[in-house]
Amino acid sequence: MSSSTVITNIAALVTNDPSLGDHSPLGLVRDAAVVIEGDRVVWTGESSKAPATDNRVDADGRAVLPGFVDSHSHLLFAGDRTEEFNARMSGRPYSAGGIRTTVAATRAASDAELEAGLTRYLAEALRQGTTTFETKSGYGLTTADESRALRVAARHTDEVTFLGAHIVAPELADDPAAYVDLVTSEMLDACAPHARWIDVFCEKGAFDGDQARAILTAGKAKGLHPRIHANQLSHGPGVQLAVELDAASADHCTHLTDADVDALAGSRTVATLLPGAEFSTRAQWPDARRLIDAGATVALSTDCNPGSSFTSSVPFCIALAVRDMGMTPDEAVWSATAGGAAALRRDDVGRLAPGAYADLTLLDAPSHVHLAYRPGVPLVAGVWRRGVRRV
Ligand SMILES: [Zn+2]
Repeated sequence: MSSSTVITNIAALVTNDPSLGDHSPLGLVRDAAVVIEGDRVVWTGESSKAPATDNRVDADGRAVLPGFVDSHSHLLFAGDRTEEFNARMSGRPYSAGGIRTTVAATRAASDAELEAGLTRYLAEALRQGTTTFETKSGYGLTTADESRALRVAARHTDEVTFLGAHIVAPELADDPAAYVDLVTSEMLDACAPHARWIDVFCEKGAFDGDQARAILTAGKAKGLHPRIHANQLSHGPGVQLAVELDAASADHCTHLTDADVDALAGSRTVATLLPGAEFSTRAQWPDARRLIDAGATVALSTDCNPGSSFTSSVPFCIALAVRDMGMTPDEAVWSATAGGAAALRRDDVGRLAPGAYADLTLLDAPSHVHLAYRPGVPLVAGVWRRGVRRV
């Protein structure tokens, strides 16, 4: 039997289990303890009632929450877009075409260079409390380059997404139908064994609704489950398509009609909001309040990518969501943990209750509210992933 460890003297423990503590969605327990055995949580509750364990860690009156679940990132890339960001901050608008810069650099990189980049960003994210992450291909846009990105990603996470339909490959820019044919046949066949999800950038300048439906439907037939980049830069069919195809998540959701909001609220498709993108492109914020009030499930993620959101920091996204998107601190913390898990259709992460993975973040603060109250401050004091302390 593996040894057991209690983390005790926790001032405020976010469990995301409404049957615990204050019975809010966060299931907040005061003066709490968590018991870990092997890679799982086996007990949560008040410190005074904790069972005997082999080891003891004193949280010293600080807050503990589930490790962040970052359900949307693009970490298989090479190259740098500092100058594009610099120019944009001097007044030039963001367009989908900037992706081509990264495609050229990514194709030119070796497997080792791609993996070194991924490893670096994952270490960065872990130090900021992220214990589960999804990541995508999408900067290769050939069968060989897309499938190798997915093979590299699959060595580091189970949540791998095939995004061959990020933009039309530059060499087929004047024949998008031929590129859709490639993505749905040879490229899909090569990529499906290495991925769990299939994604499309459904947007003007990328793929329209009919193309997106064809790509996602082909992916479903190969056993991949859909998620969609939807309604980021303009109104469009992405959100409705996500709901129609039972996508796990519609990502961005910045430009929504009332019908889009109603469709999300009446479905199990999660609205994943990515405020790092609006921050880094000086774009209009998504309206989280409108989605939550309508009854939609909202996730918060980083969209970490070199073009439009080069942050790996979930705490930064929580602070933006509270300041500019109408979320309460409790809602933002829920969305970055349990919400991210819902967007990946997982119930073994994003919560701290018996049976869940022992993925925990200890803050150098008495409450999870400090993630928004103290923006930009490195509050993460400890991270356990699968029961092992990593930070
Ligand atoms: Zn994205």
